[in-house]
Amino acid sequence: DRLIAAGQQGSEDALDRAIRPARLADYVGQAAVREQMGIFIEAARSRSESLDHVLIFGPPGLGKTTLSHIIANELGVNMKHSSGPVLERPGDLAALLTNLEPHDVLFVDEIHRLSPVVEEILYPAMEDYQIDIMIGEGPAARSIKLDLPPFTLVGATTRAGLLTSPLRDRFGIVQRLEFYSPEDLTRIVRRSAQILEVELEPEGALEIARRSRGTPRITNRLLRRVRDYAQVKADGRISAAVAHQALDMLDVDNHGFDMMDRKLLLTIIEKFDGGPVGIDNLASAIGEERGTIEDVLEPYLIQQGFMMRTPRGRIATRHAYLHFGLSAPTPEPA
Ligand code: ADP
Repeated sequence: DRLIAAGQQGSEDALDRAIRPARLADYVGQAAVREQMGIFIEAARSRSESLDHVLIFGPPGLGKTTLSHIIANELGVNMKHSSGPVLERPGDLAALLTNLEPHDVLFVDEIHRLSPVVEEILYPAMEDYQIDIMIGEGPAARSIKLDLPPFTLVGATTRAGLLTSPLRDRFGIVQRLEFYSPEDLTRIVRRSAQILEVELEPEGALEIARRSRGTPRITNRLLRRVRDYAQVKADGRISAAVAHQALDMLDVDNHGFDMMDRKLLLTIIEKFDGGPVGIDNLASAIGEERGTIEDVLEPYLIQQGFMMRTPRGRIATRHAYLHFGLSAPTPEPA
């Protein structure tokens, strides 16, 4: 299983909750997002208004859900949590909306996966705090208008481009989360280690941070696995050497790439001569869904300069060849 895709269950879930920052001040990195949200939240609070609707986009595990919880905490309101695929029928959304208290936050994850009929309900809800719902069927059916309390919709999606433009246009605040630097991830892993009461040496922290694919969720997951390793194979302390051995055992390489990352890059290099290769061909060659490549795998590889997205398809860069100890092809003479 990929570390990032592995489900969150049982005690891991409780740990996740303990580690997740609850306040803006504890939200590491994303300086611009933090500053802006701090201002918008304070302004809304001082006017006793609901915060404008917020769209957060970025790859999985970068802190979209966490930020939504923080927004609700800082506003001093409750947060209701749902997701695009769960809200199948208009009534599902209507039930959620009509149960909100004034100024509450409604978090909708994977908001790009809302069905068109549910999305239609959302427009007047977002704009005028009203919904039109149909009750009854056939000739007796009639539409009733319901007033909603003012609320804040926080929508999360992996890519802004997946949203329809009428939906996107209804968000007054749009925040894009970036991959985290090793320094930020070091702060995150040290904070988590403190909460979990794990002894973590500074070099051990840096080692875990560097191999976390720029993603806090992976940082926290690696910390827990390295902690297991340290407990069984060493004295419980996470030194650089222990972190290094544990991460090698987990098959996370020194760039933080895991098996799937390597498979993707090697497939472009070996099966497609370095590309360009179309995304659908690539997906079937590695046996992954196109969406997984686009949302989970390639954003980090592109950001790190190991592959490129061109109009003709995906290309493996010189960096990628060098990573595998291969010599990069020399450019053809023009
Ligand atoms: P997403 O909703 O984008 O998939 P989450 O909000 O669930 O990601 O974040 C995954 C985990 O990473 C959280 O449980 C939290 O512990 C941690 N995390 C995310 N962003 C931050 C941050 N900015 N600072 C500290 N920890 C973070």
